[in-house]
Amino acid sequence: MTNENHRQLIIVGSGPAGFTAAIYAARANLAPMLISGMKLYGQPSKTATIENYPGFPNGVEGPELGRLFEEQARAFGAEVVYDAVEKIDLSQKPYQVHTYGGVFSADALILAMGTEYNKLGVPGEKELEGRGISNCATCDGYFTKDKNVHVVGGGDAAIEEAIFLTRFADSVTVIHRRDALRASAILEERARTNPKIKFIWNSVVEEIKGENAVEALVLKNVKTDELSTIPSQGLFVYIGQKPTTEIVGQQLATDDKGYIIIDENMETSVPQVYAAGDVADPHYRQIVTAAGMGAAAAISATRFLETLMVNSAK
Ligand code: NAP
Repeated sequence: MTNENHRQLIIVGSGPAGFTAAIYAARANLAPMLISGMKLYGQPSKTATIENYPGFPNGVEGPELGRLFEEQARAFGAEVVYDAVEKIDLSQKPYQVHTYGGVFSADALILAMGTEYNKLGVPGEKELEGRGISNCATCDGYFTKDKNVHVVGGGDAAIEEAIFLTRFADSVTVIHRRDALRASAILEERARTNPKIKFIWNSVVEEIKGENAVEALVLKNVKTDELSTIPSQGLFVYIGQKPTTEIVGQQLATDDKGYIIIDENMETSVPQVYAAGDVADPHYRQIVTAAGMGAAAAISATRFLETLMVNSAK
């Protein structure tokens, strides 16, 4: 491998954690390389309007916030590579990062790969993926124009996106497995007072039916076990997320849900491999907390790399 493929610091992931780490590391003159992954800007790219990120009193569109993060990181000298990482080898130093476009090495890594949406795992889901089943209302909302669609889940993501879908759809019915929402009070109130939003409580989707598009849902009432079939013209699934850690496999310690375990310096079980954002956060998973974790990881990496530079100059 040539030296031009070596970096002091490589950041994997382009969400709020990754780009904030890039801003901090670039300002520390580390010339970090950020590898975007397949989901440029991570979770914000799938969020229509973000109202709880400080500094934007009127809210900001998710993709626009991601674009601003990138602009700021680039302005300080971060190198942004639009590629996906296939695997990371942590068995040797420098660490090896294999992308589709090449192999890079780094003295330190910040892992910020975020999470991916859980699937329902019911008949019809795989077959109709992209044909009426989605977990990106921001991307697919327009296709729900004048339709009657359904959202599964009771958390912030489900309720926020249900509200967004009412811009296009005739009606949006939220199907939730309990009779109380998990979403924040402000979102709940907005949903409950939105005339286009209805709720089906204590119910889960058992099957999704349709030839080339979603046509009907088979629901089970979890209290009575009663099955019913309802017409549907689109299904948006927001039933939580799982950390995206396939590219590191078993090389790092994770908790029982797969979140990367980090210490107070954001360092993982492998020295100089740091993790930030949702991939290492089973608790908060907010844009602002992800950004904070990215900053902390970059500061820790900088401290280590400065020590390395001082020692190698001796
Ligand atoms: P979440 O908070 O974990 O909610 C997942 C929802 O899906 C829950 O209501 C859960 O039901 C339901 N669920 C889970 N498995 C299910 C299954 N197999 N079948 C049917 N329903 C199922 O996930 P999220 O909404 O994606 O949010 C993730 C994190 O991002 C949270 O920390 C959230 O606060 C944050 N977030 C924040 C905002 C915002 O601040 N505006 C927006 C989006 C996300 P139960 O309630 O019964 O467990």
